[in-house]
Amino acid sequence: MEFAAIKEQIFADLGIEAINAGIYDGDWGSITGRKTLDIQSPINGEKLAAVALAEDTDYDRLMEKAWESYSVWSKIPAPQRGSIIREIGNELSKYKETLGLLVSLEVGKTRIEGMGEVQEMIDIGDFAVGLSRQLYGVTIASERPHHRLYEQWHPYGVAGVITAFNFPCAVWSWNALIAAVIGNVIVWKPSPNASLTAIATNRICSRILERHGLPPIFFLMVDERGALGERLAKDTRVPLLSFTGSIRTGRQVAQQVSARLGRTILELGGNNAAIVSDKADAEIALRGVAFGALATAGQRCTTTRRLILHAGIYDEFLGKLTRVYQTVKVGNPLEDGVLVGPLINRGAVDLYSAAIRRAVDEGGRVLCGDEVMTIPGYEGGHYVRPTLIEGSPDMGIVCEETFAPILYVLKYSALDEALQIHNSVPQGLSSAIFTTDLREAEAFLSVRGSDCGLANVNTGTAGAEIGGAFGGEKETGGGRESGSDAWKAYARRQTVTINYGAELPLAQGVRFEV
Ligand code: NAD
Repeated sequence: MEFAAIKEQIFADLGIEAINAGIYDGDWGSITGRKTLDIQSPINGEKLAAVALAEDTDYDRLMEKAWESYSVWSKIPAPQRGSIIREIGNELSKYKETLGLLVSLEVGKTRIEGMGEVQEMIDIGDFAVGLSRQLYGVTIASERPHHRLYEQWHPYGVAGVITAFNFPCAVWSWNALIAAVIGNVIVWKPSPNASLTAIATNRICSRILERHGLPPIFFLMVDERGALGERLAKDTRVPLLSFTGSIRTGRQVAQQVSARLGRTILELGGNNAAIVSDKADAEIALRGVAFGALATAGQRCTTTRRLILHAGIYDEFLGKLTRVYQTVKVGNPLEDGVLVGPLINRGAVDLYSAAIRRAVDEGGRVLCGDEVMTIPGYEGGHYVRPTLIEGSPDMGIVCEETFAPILYVLKYSALDEALQIHNSVPQGLSSAIFTTDLREAEAFLSVRGSDCGLANVNTGTAGAEIGGAFGGEKETGGGRESGSDAWKAYARRQTVTINYGAELPLAQGVRFEV
């Protein structure tokens, strides 16, 4: 199907108009008199639609309504909240294809990746439903007679969620569905580059609450340059702010929230490496590295950006990888066979070119790629050729995240050297080793091994499952989201002591007779 036909079909299904309200506080705001933002598809540069932006004057009203909703939502028993989330998951399933295609149109993901985002929302919904009956704390043996000591977990209230463009709905759902099942209400400030997806997602999810006559719990405000995000960061009415985005913006947000002693969950940039040993299964390693480095055109936080390759297989493996790079199909991500779509915008293409220039200045050697591409029929799109650069770990550019398909290849001889190279960057999100040697794998996973939040053996750095806690160390920010016990970040822990005796014994044997 043609781009125009797909657009027409999914816009009708999702209710996307020429101009769409970018604010939801229980009602979708009026579009008249507001500044609008044009949303262009990175696939061909075509204007998809416009968004009427939320304004500073909307903010206080939205925040008051959010707290009003909280007073209702937090009193509903958690398993009943879980039932609502189950319906939300079911509703999302109905829109898996169209919402997935909107993700593709708006941020340039392939069809299967766009639908994968929606699947991730459905999966995390399932997880949240299960969690709704498992929000338990522990009981601790008290040192005092006739005393009971236990922990319970309460919602924070209003949780702010600021998201990046590259996971325009999945990352919101990791936060929102888990936070909601605990009893929080969510205020979402999405990336302006992905605001149509945010509007469509928020509509689908909010509809379920409306159907039940419940107050809104998914608030939304689209801004253009992050000013409303900054308000969330500074607002004491937002006890918890989850931020996903670049290290630069995240650093600023973290400082603003910590200045008021608020809580953050930070999911910032990565600079992920895959070590390929001479004992690797070469076929698995090749596919794992290719997927990690090329998927989503290198615009994943978990994208493989550094390949640490053993000297013994260096030439052979690199030869095969170069062939993959030279033959991988770049173009319209809606087309079958295309594995690499466009970058998000012209600015991202400029950053790609600047990074390659800098790499060369710093001594790197371009093996293939380094081309800003024009795809016939999609001249307005933002396409680049995936690029392989031979380099060294001490190059400045190798230590930075460039959000584009550039892979730096670094040679090693001994595993200790590989681990040292691996851990020598400021970021610490995802990591991988390809080896069939148990000792190497365990060394990578040991305390002196990978310093990242995610460590994978014989599978690449990208493509995490929702069941594990997701996040990274060092400049990646330390946050954890999604599965395992990451839910605890959305709840405040309360330690409760109950004296059911007839006396008042004090802890540590302290006496205080009055
Ligand atoms: P970005 O930092 O440019 O923007 C992220 C969000 O911050 C957007 O919603 C933006 O509008 C908002 N923002 C901008 N200025 C702000 C301010 N002053 N105060 C508050 N909010 C503000 O990031 P991006 O280009 O959208 O996304 C790419 C980056 O996100 C990459 O670095 C990538 O690694 C990272 N990312 C990390 C994860 C993770 O889980 N670790 C996941 C996805 C993306």
